[in-house]
Amino acid sequence: MSQLANKVAIITGAGRKNGIGAATALRLARAGVQVVVGDLCAPPPSNAANPGVGQWQELEEVAGMVEAEGVRCLPMRVDVTDLAAVESMVSATMAEFGRLDILVNNAGVVFGPAPVLQMQEDAWRKTFDVNVTGVFLCCKAALPAMIQTAGQYGAGRIVNMSSLAAARPKPFMASYAASKAAVIALTQALAQEVAQFGITANALLPGDIDTGFKQWGLQLESLVRGKALDEITSEAVAQIPVGRLGTPEDVAGLVAYLVSDEAAFITGQAINVTGGRELSQAAMPR
Ligand code: NAD
Repeated sequence: MSQLANKVAIITGAGRKNGIGAATALRLARAGVQVVVGDLCAPPPSNAANPGVGQWQELEEVAGMVEAEGVRCLPMRVDVTDLAAVESMVSATMAEFGRLDILVNNAGVVFGPAPVLQMQEDAWRKTFDVNVTGVFLCCKAALPAMIQTAGQYGAGRIVNMSSLAAARPKPFMASYAASKAAVIALTQALAQEVAQFGITANALLPGDIDTGFKQWGLQLESLVRGKALDEITSEAVAQIPVGRLGTPEDVAGLVAYLVSDEAAFITGQAINVTGGRELSQAAMPR
């Protein structure tokens, strides 16, 4: 039996079937992990640049797919920027499962990408609210339950979704890039604080993972640069040494490793999942 069997994970931003969160939930479920999948499940605010926020029905479908793997899955409507909502998610997890071993802070967005010269203050703040404050609030709310669980079972795992954008920021994406860089710093401070409880904390830097979010980004670039989507996609792939976009499963596999017992000595790291994209030269969009 897998050493992950019967552990319990919360995964935020898992409400889209083609997203990294859902793939991670499925991957952990296959290892026997019971999963709580959280997502906003609400229409995006009017100035949201990314229209693909998950809906309740899709989150329930994700939960159904996870349960088909033979584990229990609890779908939860949660806004990661709302401490009370995040605390309710943790309380519901403990009420349902009695333990919390794994936290995957995957929810992430970008509001109103634009050159800094034109970027709206509100869009900047909202991006930071979800991507940075959301990770902070989820860690803060989950840690008491995770420390209790680690005390009983010996280990806990936090994985925070940063982005290659943190290390290779693109024009028009300053808010997103800066927020994802903040996720790395937060993770590295946290890793030192929670090591005493047997909990590790690592940040992942995915790059060019083929999800709804990525497709939206490619479409935006296509509009900004006045080039066909196919051409923009081919250009992106040409900069990835592995020669393809990543899949959500590429990221999920690394999460599954980092939450396993084998990864007990890996903490405070920022790990690329990019097909080698960071080795290529970025060009300023024109
Ligand atoms: P996605 O849009 O499928 O996933 C993001 C999820 O976050 C959505 O389901 C959305 O509803 C949810 N969300 C947004 N605001 C929320 C809130 N306030 N509370 C709770 N949930 C909220 O996109 P994805 O590509 O699977 O992205 C997952 C994570 O990976 C994000 O943090 C993203 O920044 C990061 N990432 C993705 C890529 C990529 O190429 N796809 C690259 C680097 C980093």
